Amino acid sequence: MSVLTDIHGHGGGGHAFGDSVEGTLAAAAAHRAHGTGAMVASLVSLPLEVTRRQMDVVREAMADDAAIIGVHLEGPFLSPERKGAHALGNLVAPTPEAVDGLIAAGDGLIRQITIAPELPGALDAIERCVDAGIVVAVGHTEADAALARQAFDRGATLLTHGFNAMRGLVGREIGPVGAALDDDRVSIELIADGIHLDPALIAAVFRAAPGRVVLVTDAMAAAAASDGDYVLGVLAVEVRDGKAVLAGTDTIAGSTLTLARAIEVCVAAGVPHAHAVAAASDVPRAVLGLA
Ligand SMILES: [Zn+2]
Repeated sequence: MSVLTDIHGHGGGGHAFGDSVEGTLAAAAAHRAHGTGAMVASLVSLPLEVTRRQMDVVREAMADDAAIIGVHLEGPFLSPERKGAHALGNLVAPTPEAVDGLIAAGDGLIRQITIAPELPGALDAIERCVDAGIVVAVGHTEADAALARQAFDRGATLLTHGFNAMRGLVGREIGPVGAALDDDRVSIELIADGIHLDPALIAAVFRAAPGRVVLVTDAMAAAAASDGDYVLGVLAVEVRDGKAVLAGTDTIAGSTLTLARAIEVCVAAGVPHAHAVAAASDVPRAVLGLA
């Protein structure tokens, strides 16, 4: 029996991972109620001191709930041009000091980190993180295909929510998605909620990269909860009809997805059920190096 495993999600059930121990446990319980058996708690870009505190919160929650298997740091080493729902003022360059500070603060807790490879020092940072046993994802980036390939050669093995917060795939400049499709070492996260990606594209990526698609929720607090006003990191988010956007804008701010729903969306798009389930279980577990 495959364990549905979400390696990129920020919360659910009305709670964000890392805000409080009780809230983190409640968010995990909300996803578990929809069938997710293991999850990595994603934390948005925040000042190091806040991230450190959030990691301590998650660590404490993990002692009570074995379904929470670590954290994913989405930032703070992201491109200002592609920040999405990350606060500009919290983005920093991946200097050796900043990277080592985060790794030390994580103390083994960090499963995954998203890095924009065009930032100064980013390629070295990728190697540092990989050496520390952290899965590195390319994302929130302006990188072209050539730079993405360099990131993969330095050890990045994942693409953060493919197609979203990065250049598209165009004729002679195929961008990070094209580079990832072309590289068997790399897996591609997709947010299959019917909002972030056209369902026909989801099905096409499954065909183009067999065994390398990772379904993620990128869920924020409103997943498995109701529409309304929420906060993601420090930014206000409005959720209407299950669509989350930064308040007063069209910028998508995560999803209200569960993994079970993502599988349904894929199957409706024509993806074989077994492939969709594997993309939400065995593939992400292999990416993380889990048994
Ligand atoms: Zn993101």
